[in-house]
Amino acid sequence: MGYDLIVIGGGPGGYLAAERAGHAGLKTLLIEKRFIGGVCLNEGCIPSKALLYSAKIFDYARFSEKYGVTTEGVKFDHGVALARKDKVVKTLVSGIKGALKGSKVTVVEGEAQIQGRTEEGFQVAVGKEIHSGARLLIATGSAPIVPPIKGAPEGVKKGFVLTNREILDLDHVPEKLVIVGGGVIGLEMASYFNSVGSKVTIIEMLEQIAGATDKDIANILMKNYQKKGIEFKMKSKVTQVKAKSVVYEVDGKSQEVAADKVLLSIGRRPVTQGFGLETIGVELENGAVKTDRFGKTNIPGVYAAGDVNGVYMLAHTAYREAEVCVNNMIGKKDVMRYCAIPAVIYTNPEVAGVGETEETAKAKGIDYECATLTMKYSGRYVAENEDGDGICKVLVDKKYRNVIGVHMIGSYASEMILSAGMMVEMELKVDDVKEFVFPHPTVCEVMREGIFQL
Ligand SMILES: Cc1cc2nc3c(=O)[nH]c(=O)nc-3n(C[C@H](O)[C@H](O)[C@H](O)COP(=O)(O)OP(=O)(O)OC[C@H]3O[C@@H](n4cnc5c(N)ncnc54)[C@H](O)[C@@H]3O)c2cc1C
Repeated sequence: MGYDLIVIGGGPGGYLAAERAGHAGLKTLLIEKRFIGGVCLNEGCIPSKALLYSAKIFDYARFSEKYGVTTEGVKFDHGVALARKDKVVKTLVSGIKGALKGSKVTVVEGEAQIQGRTEEGFQVAVGKEIHSGARLLIATGSAPIVPPIKGAPEGVKKGFVLTNREILDLDHVPEKLVIVGGGVIGLEMASYFNSVGSKVTIIEMLEQIAGATDKDIANILMKNYQKKGIEFKMKSKVTQVKAKSVVYEVDGKSQEVAADKVLLSIGRRPVTQGFGLETIGVELENGAVKTDRFGKTNIPGVYAAGDVNGVYMLAHTAYREAEVCVNNMIGKKDVMRYCAIPAVIYTNPEVAGVGETEETAKAKGIDYECATLTMKYSGRYVAENEDGDGICKVLVDKKYRNVIGVHMIGSYASEMILSAGMMVEMELKVDDVKEFVFPHPTVCEVMREGIFQL
């Protein structure tokens, strides 16, 4: 059976591409070997946010007295939070299945194996069934990295060492949780388990947590979590995972921390092996499928979107890349731009940023000016946050006076960052933004104040 497009992988990159392609009239096949919705819906973005919201409500209830609310006997039921998380996932996955049906996409469950190309098109096997397609979209996503640390692979087999997949289904709250890696996933999981009762230790090799986040903001986040009881072992390298502990090296000395469970969150790698990419000669770069700004690979008719291209590894980037691929397939010129990809950490307080940080601006030699404001400039922030220490940084290019970056820590940061992203993407100048009317009282008014200081 000949398809106009075969999509391999049903995560955000794959399912959205299939939906858009079907909607545009392409006869489309989507092949998924595990669950429609991919990592994002089933073992990533959505389940983690569902759990984090349960923890947030628990924290609101426990710490409500200073807002005039007295509660008694507040308890957390991890089982109920897990069941709710599963319900949320089910609802959203069934929504996606409905949308794919609505776009007349054929969905096949099974592992895709590319077998090469014939006159009929690209040949893709799922079990004994062979499908041919005029075009291919590779959206196989990414998988957690399990480093070759002594004892780690064995720990995974025994269920003592977990990745994001297992921890989101863990049926109990471990007394002592050690998290290897203080990046976004590690911090979000630390936030949840800290709130619901685990003694959490984060071991991070670098000087700062939260990866490429603005340094001042990463430090504020760390202080917040230190106050909540999380221990951070910085500039520390894990050397061994034992039966009930983790060994790490700091300043040339070996240290050990006890653990009931260990979460490995040191990063993810694109999935490019084992499904026949080599049979059609798709070029890889640093283990990822190499694409241009149109989502095209080196092989005409073969596109790639999402984590598999190793560019940003975020669901919202995958969505946009999927659209760019499909638009170019149907002859609508579209280009992927990466200058304003928002980054969010759903901790409490939330962190969000877009565009240049002070660190990246300096590294690129950009002559910039930066306004750093306490979130207390916002009336709503003060009204809602006792002892809040959030900040917002607005960066502008000194010469062109356009907004090049906005970074913040505090309530609603995840929701505010889109408007900042628009300023960066549209290269809006300070004087343009000054003419915007911001709703009052909102936390986003802090951006307005920042702009007026520049
Ligand atoms: C714990 C966690 C939290 C996260 N939180 C966020 C967040 O808050 N915001 C955000 O933007 N991003 C977040 N991410 C990242 C986000 O999940 C990914 O960027 C996103 O899922 C990438 O989408 P994708 O379509 O490229 O790949 P995936 O979602 O990885 O989907 C790829 C799919 O391809 C399938 N597949 C692979 N090989 C084959 C084959 N041969 N045949 C058939 N099917 C195949 C896989 O089974 C999988 O379902 C998080 C990730 C994790 C792990």
